[in-house]
Amino acid sequence: MKESRPLAEESHTAQPEADSPAWHARSVAETVSALGTDPDYGLSLAEAAKRLARLGPNILAGARREPWWEDVVEVLAEPLVLLLIVVAGVYALLGEVEDAATIVVIILAVAGVEIMNKARAKRAIAALRSLSALRATVVRAGQPADVPAAEVVPGDVVLLQPGQRVVADLRLVETAALRVDESSLTGESAPVTKRADIVLAPETELADRANLAFAGTLVTAGKGRGLVVATGRATELGRVAELAAGVKEPPTPLQQQLRQLAGWLLWVALGFSVLIPVLGVLVANRPWREMLLTGLTLAFATIPEELPILITTVLAIGAYRLARQQAIVKRLQAVETLGSVSAICTDKTGTLTENRMRVVELWAGGALPPLGIGTSPEVARLLEIGVLANDAQLILTDGRERFVGDPTETALLAAAKTAGLQVGDLRAARVLEEFPFDDRRKRMSVVYERDGARWIAAKGAPEAILSVCAAVRLGGRVEPLDRQRLDELRALVDDLAARGLRVLAFAERQLGPDERPDGDVESVEAGLTLVGLAGLEDPPRPEVPEAIATLRSAGVRVLMLTGDHPATARAIAERVGIEARRVVLGRELEQATDDALRELVRTAAVFARITPEHKLRIVRTLQEQGAVVAVTGDGVNDAPALRAAAIGIAMGRTGTDVAREAAGLVLADDNFATVAAAVRAGRTLYENLCKSVRYYLAAKLALVTASVAAVLAHLPVPFAPVQIIVLELFMDLGAATTFVAEPPEADLMARSPRDPRRPFLDHPMRLGILAGGLSLAAAVVAVYLWAWSRGPGLAVAQSAAFVTWMIGHVVLAAHMRSERQPLLRTGLLTNRAFLLWAAAALMGLIVSMVVPTLRARLHLAEPGLTAWLVALAAGLIFPSWWEVVKWWRWHRRSSGP
Ligand code: ADP
Ligand code: MG
Repeated sequence: MKESRPLAEESHTAQPEADSPAWHARSVAETVSALGTDPDYGLSLAEAAKRLARLGPNILAGARREPWWEDVVEVLAEPLVLLLIVVAGVYALLGEVEDAATIVVIILAVAGVEIMNKARAKRAIAALRSLSALRATVVRAGQPADVPAAEVVPGDVVLLQPGQRVVADLRLVETAALRVDESSLTGESAPVTKRADIVLAPETELADRANLAFAGTLVTAGKGRGLVVATGRATELGRVAELAAGVKEPPTPLQQQLRQLAGWLLWVALGFSVLIPVLGVLVANRPWREMLLTGLTLAFATIPEELPILITTVLAIGAYRLARQQAIVKRLQAVETLGSVSAICTDKTGTLTENRMRVVELWAGGALPPLGIGTSPEVARLLEIGVLANDAQLILTDGRERFVGDPTETALLAAAKTAGLQVGDLRAARVLEEFPFDDRRKRMSVVYERDGARWIAAKGAPEAILSVCAAVRLGGRVEPLDRQRLDELRALVDDLAARGLRVLAFAERQLGPDERPDGDVESVEAGLTLVGLAGLEDPPRPEVPEAIATLRSAGVRVLMLTGDHPATARAIAERVGIEARRVVLGRELEQATDDALRELVRTAAVFARITPEHKLRIVRTLQEQGAVVAVTGDGVNDAPALRAAAIGIAMGRTGTDVAREAAGLVLADDNFATVAAAVRAGRTLYENLCKSVRYYLAAKLALVTASVAAVLAHLPVPFAPVQIIVLELFMDLGAATTFVAEPPEADLMARSPRDPRRPFLDHPMRLGILAGGLSLAAAVVAVYLWAWSRGPGLAVAQSAAFVTWMIGHVVLAAHMRSERQPLLRTGLLTNRAFLLWAAAALMGLIVSMVVPTLRARLHLAEPGLTAWLVALAAGLIFPSWWEVVKWWRWHRRSSGP
């Protein structure tokens, strides 16, 4: 085995030493020897690991890990916790040291819960970041390997493809029409052409160093191979910018709405926190000291400071769960938008299909023989072109050949091998020039040398190849490609495509002796001779038809936007259940007026021979019609459509860096069914957020209402300040944990998508909060008045109210688990988090009532069996009218039309 040479110098992570020339001023050979590497073999695995250990990871500013105590300080410094500390201070000043101590203990509990929630959200987000981190293709020990960008070391051989970010500074050693967008570094937005075969003067400016590719820039076209000369902070990017690690995301619309709501409710809460003590002193004749403390604690308990935190936690945890279902969230906003998606524009190849191509039909020279049987010289010729005009890699492991690359291309290599061709030997041909594939040209070609002659070999979509052909090889002869033959060929292509096959055409031509192979594409790729056609099979993924049916019943349109042939598109669409009576061609979109376009987009669901520009136009038109559009994409030019969509979805496996950067969601498995699962998860999440906010606000409303009602009745507030703080702890915990874990409701995917313009606190939400809050308050006040009227004093009355409150709370939460389904349908045991919380709340209640010291600490008294029973009954019955309404509505719905 070949060994990579040891590293010659230590200094190459920075610029070369003062006396040695800069990288752009060295030849490839000089660079290779200075870096101690080999442009074909790369570094050995051991050497790469050694260099990584010695020179450090390829990252810019060392992303600082926040120590855990920063979270603690942050939480303790929140105004509300400060307020609570003030309360404790006031207690201590008033001589109630024990109460002050109790409050401090509860502060710690509240802060602990919050710190845990924050840490959970942060961990989730960090895990997501690492999942969507940049990667690079390097050659190590002679084999291409996909590695995280952070592990790239000086001396590594990096392969460049369109759509990739360059991950380190490279001295290029091979280029084919390579163009790079360097705007991130130089500000120049027009892509620059790179060339490996030049050596520049040392004083050449950064922007003109055409034989280097810089970290952070973007490959827009062509191919290249380069040697890493600098990584991390030693790169040009590292010098100009110490990028702030982890740019903060702007708040999502929902976060903004909830922040606004919290800000508004803050004043309401403050108003009541002043009003209640004032009424207490003036109307109910309570001592001002007690009322001051009550006011402060009410403020603490009713100010909805948790709202914004709640949504962030819900979104972050939701994002984390989605990641486990193979949908990696790049922007939290995507989680929120997923629930309201009403149209999905999807690719075909690899998303709806398996992306496991196999050549199943070949046509060459006049007959349509099945593959592998009686391979004719014509078929061999076709497959040779397929092997030469091909970017897939041939890898030898333990003497066995493996093909790595685009499935369309690996399928051709596999077919050639089956037909008995020596793929490795063919690949040894000297390639003089390459014209790469892109989604507009839909073809690619190479110029190579064989037996002293130069040939061009081309393959691509049939129309794209036929448009540059002048002749066709038939029965061993070359015949001119006239109208009639062209029509026959097109009919043949249509037949193959109608069977759902991807059709490729192959052509070639010998170059004239004076012709320059590196001339412009148009003149070289012209006057070709068609050699044959191939039909490739790529079966639909088995789980896709069900996913599409689910989405349809959920009111979500699915549109297929593919670069493939219309007949292929139709065949696959029909197999997965997309309506395909009308297949619109990209060409038609170009000629369509805006009105016609709107009509097409409204009625048709399959679009073929689409370019990224068409995709963008379709997305825009759908949006004009009010749709919330999710769009998938993988190519270099898909970024605009991905950005324009409400949710851009990039492919994790086959997608380019540009697509992933523009997207809000990345599919780790490239599978369309994952999109459907994500929509479902997005809806669940939104519903659960509604549930938790509904409950959270209902509980606060209940607390305020019960207090106001009591003072208006000339009575003290039904809870002592310490009790209020305990209640607050349970409410928040309940809202933050139980509803977030609620499983999706049965009819979730049978409803139409949520209208994103509807405000978060819409009519049903407000009604729910009002109904829930008032019923709970009614229970507490009723029991409180009843206990007060019996006469054993404030402590007993408050205890009865406290028992009612805790029980009523758990009951209300149980009913609020669904807005529509009766509890028995939802299932009593389907949410474990809820059960745990409910059990903890009830246990806490019993323990604090039964253990004498605890009881004293919380200012509770034993109310007696009758009061227990009354409290239990009130807590069970009052909040249940919400359940009764649900039952009634449910049965009306299910017995209705
Ligand atoms: P899709 O939307 O299905 O991913 P693409 O844009 O990848 O479509 O491909 C469009 C057309 O370009 C294909 O139908 C095929 O004819 C042709 N094509 C795809 N890949 C290659 C390739 N590697 N070389 C030549 N032609 C290709
Ligand atoms: Mg494609």
